[in-house]
Amino acid sequence: MSEQEFDVAVVGAGFAGMYLLHRLRRLGFNARVIEAGSDVGGTWYWNRYPGARVDIESMQYSYQFDDDLQQEWRWTERYSPQPEILKYARHVAERYDLRRDIQFDTRVAAAVYDASSARWTLEAEDGSKITTRFFVMATGCLSKPNWPQIEGMDSFAGPTYHTALWPHENVDFTGKRVAVIGTGSSAIQSIPVIAEDAAEVFVFQRTPNYAIPAHNAPLDKKYEKKVKDRYADFRAEAKQTPPGIHGRFRQGGALEVTSAERKAEYERRWANGGLSFMGAYGDLMFDQDANDTAAGFVRDKIREIVDDPDVAELLCPTNIIGGKRLCVDTNYFATYNRDHVHLIDVKERPIEAITPDGVRAHGKNYQVDALIFATGFDAMTGALTAVDIRGKGDALLRDRWADGPSSYLGLAMADFPNLFTVTGPGSPSVFTNMLPTIEQHVDWIADCLAYMKDHNYTAIEATPDAEAAWWEHVQDSVADGLKATTNSWYLGANVAGKARVFMPYYGGFPNYCRKCEEVVADDYEGFAFA
Ligand code: NAP
Repeated sequence: MSEQEFDVAVVGAGFAGMYLLHRLRRLGFNARVIEAGSDVGGTWYWNRYPGARVDIESMQYSYQFDDDLQQEWRWTERYSPQPEILKYARHVAERYDLRRDIQFDTRVAAAVYDASSARWTLEAEDGSKITTRFFVMATGCLSKPNWPQIEGMDSFAGPTYHTALWPHENVDFTGKRVAVIGTGSSAIQSIPVIAEDAAEVFVFQRTPNYAIPAHNAPLDKKYEKKVKDRYADFRAEAKQTPPGIHGRFRQGGALEVTSAERKAEYERRWANGGLSFMGAYGDLMFDQDANDTAAGFVRDKIREIVDDPDVAELLCPTNIIGGKRLCVDTNYFATYNRDHVHLIDVKERPIEAITPDGVRAHGKNYQVDALIFATGFDAMTGALTAVDIRGKGDALLRDRWADGPSSYLGLAMADFPNLFTVTGPGSPSVFTNMLPTIEQHVDWIADCLAYMKDHNYTAIEATPDAEAAWWEHVQDSVADGLKATTNSWYLGANVAGKARVFMPYYGGFPNYCRKCEEVVADDYEGFAFA
């Protein structure tokens, strides 16, 4: 980073950082975005593993701040593949001339607040520094890769990949023996594609996952036109649903209908495909018996698809459906019918070691040519605690969050003045369509900075009381339902030693937006200005 002074420094040039830069420029702020990667795109820059694609429909997974942009851009598939989303991000960067204010290939290592000047100094890994009045972490919820702790981790002699750090050049598995560790969304998307080329695929599964078919297809032109003819209304309707996604969310209970009606509803949703499966009944995440009906339906589908009954049973999840993020797949379960795809259950007997030529489990060394970790992320907090963020009184965010994060609205933290997080812990973020959620956060932050400019304020900080009250509300939002009963990355349960605290806000997008609006209407209630 060059030794310059800015009004606002934004870390991350994904969809959040790009839109924030655009908004800040229009408000007359001198802003700089700092990005570790070599290009824009954030999650879509890094997660370029075979089969990577979005699990929200393309017509909804896009910006809406500029009607010309949303009218002109043409998606080609119902669920966009990663290369097309990256192309879209690049198009946005060109269209709004964003790159001239983005510094690529620069990873921020530390940020220190100076109370006397009310400014932050950011230091990159290369030692360069910038100072800034405001500092925004737009680093995403799922951006710090999680590496498991397995004996011999570094001993494998062949190429090792992580789905979240996939190389930019083409990786050819033709004729290769490949091990995949993990069976989350990234594995479920990539395994069928890898199996197309590989000679042998060994999948090491600790916990099976529920997956609903994507039924991906070329985007229906009539549907595209129908949406574009009323895009603003379509977007507004989506924002009225708990996840901020346009779709059919039924209110009634699963057990209020006959089993035949219920099965017909699940069949319709299975045939339609995607995450809307969980919208079948309003109580699926609140009533164990209701949840059992949906979970049992998917397990029966797995048993229908997978030829070998033993393999099918191994692939059947036993936890509740929807406790972990539901997966959306293309040919995942059917891939296990291929003779060269092998499922190794490591639930009761974990992987023993990574060896120079493979993976050892159940006393056997599975020899492979390539090793893939599809082991997910240090979610929600990982990218924030990876930076030495020091606020007032030298408070270190990483230490502050040692027992779990806490935040006011997922936007700001007490003792960290002039620091904002986009879709931080305590916001609905990962329970919603990330693009509109990002826009809502960015608009809130940009409007707040404009307000401060108008009022000649130089510092803003969440009050400890407001933060504590909001965090209690975040915890209350999951207290009644089944959501927090599963060991998931929402709870930090996937990372060894991480505090188990439920991190996203489960109260729904509309309630969250209303609260943010009320805070503003009440002269930024819960924030102190200086
Ligand atoms: P993930 O859901 O956290 O899955 C990680 C997998 O690695 C799990 O199956 C986990 O098993 C396994 N694992 C970790 N350590 C292991 C070990 N020592 N031995 C064996 N297995 C181990 O990560 P992800 O698949 O990257 O997905 C994370 C999130 O990213 C998703 O939930 C979703 O929100 C998002 N995502 C979305 C899409 C999409 O469809 N657009 C695609 C990819 C990712 P356990 O479950 O037993 O811990």
